[in-house]
Amino acid sequence: MIVAKTGADHIKSLKDGRTVYIDGKLVEDVTEHPAFRNVVRSSAALYDFQAQPENIEWMTFQPEGSNKRVNRAWQMPRSYDEMVQRRKALQAWAKLSCGFMGRSPDHVASALAGQRISIEVFQKHSPDRAKAFVDYYDWATRNDVFLTYVIINPQAERTKDWSAQSDDLVARIVDEDSSGITIRGAKMLGTSSIMANEVLVANLQPLRPGEEDLAFSCALPMNTKGIRVLSRKSYEASAVSVFDNPLSSQFDENDALMFFDDVKVPWDRLFVYRDTDMARAQFHDTFGHSYQNYQAQIRLSVKIKFLVGVAHRLTEAIGTTKIPSVSEKLGYLAAQASMVEAMLSGMEASGRMAGDYWVPNKHFMYAAQVLTQDLYPQVVNAIRDLSGGAMIMLPSSIADFTDPVLKKIIHTTQRAASMEPEDKVKFLKAAWDAVGSEFGSRHTQYEMFYAGARFVTAGHSFRTYDWETATGLVDGLLNTYQLKDELDALAR
Ligand SMILES: Cc1cc2nc3c(=O)[nH]c(=O)nc-3n(C[C@H](O)[C@H](O)[C@H](O)COP(=O)(O)OP(=O)(O)OC[C@H]3O[C@@H](n4cnc5c(N)ncnc54)[C@H](O)[C@@H]3O)c2cc1C
Repeated sequence: MIVAKTGADHIKSLKDGRTVYIDGKLVEDVTEHPAFRNVVRSSAALYDFQAQPENIEWMTFQPEGSNKRVNRAWQMPRSYDEMVQRRKALQAWAKLSCGFMGRSPDHVASALAGQRISIEVFQKHSPDRAKAFVDYYDWATRNDVFLTYVIINPQAERTKDWSAQSDDLVARIVDEDSSGITIRGAKMLGTSSIMANEVLVANLQPLRPGEEDLAFSCALPMNTKGIRVLSRKSYEASAVSVFDNPLSSQFDENDALMFFDDVKVPWDRLFVYRDTDMARAQFHDTFGHSYQNYQAQIRLSVKIKFLVGVAHRLTEAIGTTKIPSVSEKLGYLAAQASMVEAMLSGMEASGRMAGDYWVPNKHFMYAAQVLTQDLYPQVVNAIRDLSGGAMIMLPSSIADFTDPVLKKIIHTTQRAASMEPEDKVKFLKAAWDAVGSEFGSRHTQYEMFYAGARFVTAGHSFRTYDWETATGLVDGLLNTYQLKDELDALAR
């Protein structure tokens, strides 16, 4: 059994001359730059993990027509059992970063798998676009391509339509010829774009008729001429050491503004063309949105479990676990973590066949999304609440351990009933990186917004809920008595 790519192959594929900027400079090689090199290695480690002989069978599958195995994210499950098998592979990848790599390669692969399941939606739009999508899906699957996506427009004036924003703010079609279209303008944030091979560019936000220039979707190699990637501040670059910042030093997947500076898109990479309804339908009339957000919940199930573990260890570090009000808080956190897991199982078990494939329960997925975007900051806050000053009273860096006087003081002051002082410092540094560092704080923002602001996610929940049954229950009660009968009874 051989895999389509290894970690080394992935790193090599990123030395492709892409145009990434950070701190005012063009990055020569993202795989070597101090802002990105560790997370690039963490992404490569995903491919190495699945290539290990003991993992290859359950982490990967062999697509039809290929002799190489790829991650199960590309697999369109044909039954509930296959969906569970696929989920276990995705959870295993998430565990490698404790759930802190939100846009690992399985995210967009899941979106595309969900869209591929409903290819008839593309066929209705245009047979040529549907063919381009199918060919692309097959190619991306066979090569286990790492894709990111940019599907949200930069914020500016919300009271104006997207097409009415100032010139070049929102990516749009500005030209076309026999070889394809040309796009110019920006998309908000390409998380993981610095270490992805390709980017899916689309428009998830509602468009009106007349905004056809904005209504396109395509996939492009990250080194396409004209794609400029403007990285946010790197947390990895300021992570002093793995011991001091175990998460941000390895898993800072980065988020970057993407500007399309007259980028040429060939027709065979174009999946939606000047159709405002299809821009929406690509995600919502297919199972794309379901599958991408189902993947997000799979990853979150790991991350919440990790955070609940942090909470428990924290109380051990400061000796509070057995205080009744503290164990009550831990019990509440455990219930929250289990709720995330239970919702995941629920959306799988109450899924259904759509044609040849098993798809998750859409409303349960949206319910999980709405509840967990609130739950995440609650869990972070609970950890802060349990900690007092523990995550702050810490050596400035590992360098403090090199001075014998300081080391002695650290050993005296970092005591715990069940931990050695060095283990306590090690743990508390990790806990702070998870919930309090700039990296940890970005994660709260991520979990609150990656799937859309509250009014958007709650809107999906509203639209997909079975209101008829709910209101039917109310009507059922109301139909058991009538005012007239009651008045008659009163008169008797
Ligand atoms: C860390 C991070 C990573 C991200 N990664 C990606 C990525 O990889 N790819 C990608 O495409 N996108 C990405 N995003 C973008 C993300 O999808 C958006 O942030 C999200 O959809 C919310 O859109 P917005 O930022 O425009 O916020 P807005 O929609 O502007 O909402 C912000 C706030 O404004 C208010 N508001 C605005 N409009 C309304 C309204 N109509 N009704 C009521 N209230 C309103 C609400 O208070 C809302 O909470 C990422 C975002 C973050 C924070």
